[in-house]
Amino acid sequence: MNDSSPFQPEQHLTVPEPNIAGKKSLLLRLIRAAQPITRTDIAGRLGIDKSTVTDHVEPLVTSGILREETHEITGQGRPARTLSFIDENDYFIGVNLGVRRSQVGLTTLKGEIEAEEDFETQTDARAALRMARERIEKLYQANPNRTLRVIGVSVPGMTDARRSELIYAPNLNWTKVRIADALRINESVKVIVENDSTAAAMYEARVKIRKSEDGLMTNFILVRSGTGIGVGLVIGSEVYRGSGLGRGIAGEFGHMTIVAGGKPCVCGNRGCWEKYASAASAASLYLGDRPPGRGESVPRFVEIVSKAENGDNRSRRTLEKIGDYLGIGIANVIMGVGIPRVIISGRLVYGWNFIKAPLHEAIERSIIGKIDGWSVEAGEPAGAAIGGALEVAVEEYLSNI
Ligand SMILES: [Zn+2]
Repeated sequence: MNDSSPFQPEQHLTVPEPNIAGKKSLLLRLIRAAQPITRTDIAGRLGIDKSTVTDHVEPLVTSGILREETHEITGQGRPARTLSFIDENDYFIGVNLGVRRSQVGLTTLKGEIEAEEDFETQTDARAALRMARERIEKLYQANPNRTLRVIGVSVPGMTDARRSELIYAPNLNWTKVRIADALRINESVKVIVENDSTAAAMYEARVKIRKSEDGLMTNFILVRSGTGIGVGLVIGSEVYRGSGLGRGIAGEFGHMTIVAGGKPCVCGNRGCWEKYASAASAASLYLGDRPPGRGESVPRFVEIVSKAENGDNRSRRTLEKIGDYLGIGIANVIMGVGIPRVIISGRLVYGWNFIKAPLHEAIERSIIGKIDGWSVEAGEPAGAAIGGALEVAVEEYLSNI
């Protein structure tokens, strides 16, 4: 492993993407993530001149979407004129429909989560959606003087091209569920249904832009590993969902075959990646691929991590094996899509200290090991749940301003 590769993701940051820099939606995304922000900073981070920033920003200030004010910026000598959203009245609701648990939450453009409720996901889709809808209505009724802009829903499966239906979620065994229709509480409030890994990718992009770790998070692959594995793709600063009839199905790498004739998967095939590298697969690896014996329980992923931290060899080896399988799959995904920057999201992040080294070794062994500048880093575990769903709602609003 040489110094220029795996652990230094910063080197991707300077590749210019001039074709995307002038887009208003990107400018709004940057202002939202990094607010309060000066016009000069916006110009610098987007690689455009200040007059272009002004052309975009002036009408938004006039129409009351953005406010410009004099603001002290830490570390800078004099006060600066900064831009931020006027968002006191607007709010967004997110619904994350997880395989085991679901969450409904409320956020503002600033990204503060004002309310969040967690509940068990019912196996019946209609019952699960009824529970989510009750919580949406409760939040809506509790905020009579504010404007609900968009409801964002993240689902563990493929969506239709219009992002209103779930086509198939293997781990829930739900097929063709008209989610937007079931959760729409008001004709004027749009409901957007998004794949959970794509939603997590939107969340990670905002967190990293806010921390100034990256100008725009132009290109990256998000691998979400929890009960299953899903992949979110960000290409040219926009999430990629597939195209034509396949729009909404991109990223189902969790069901690519990684072991021919391997373990049976809920999708009906054998040897799928998520049977070997999801956080949920750790329990079966830990038990040696046999059912739990008498008095033995199926360990949760966080329990395996905590045992490994306390020096338990079997737990450590389990996590290392997962790291190896995860690395094998990630190398395949990088080869397929040609984006060498990867962020890991989901429960698996809790075991990152044990997973990291074997994962990197597996990628080094592959043809990707021959290129410079690839990187795999751990993201925020929270982005894989309600954070992603809320992001879907806000992104939809921003892209229509
Ligand atoms: Zn499968």
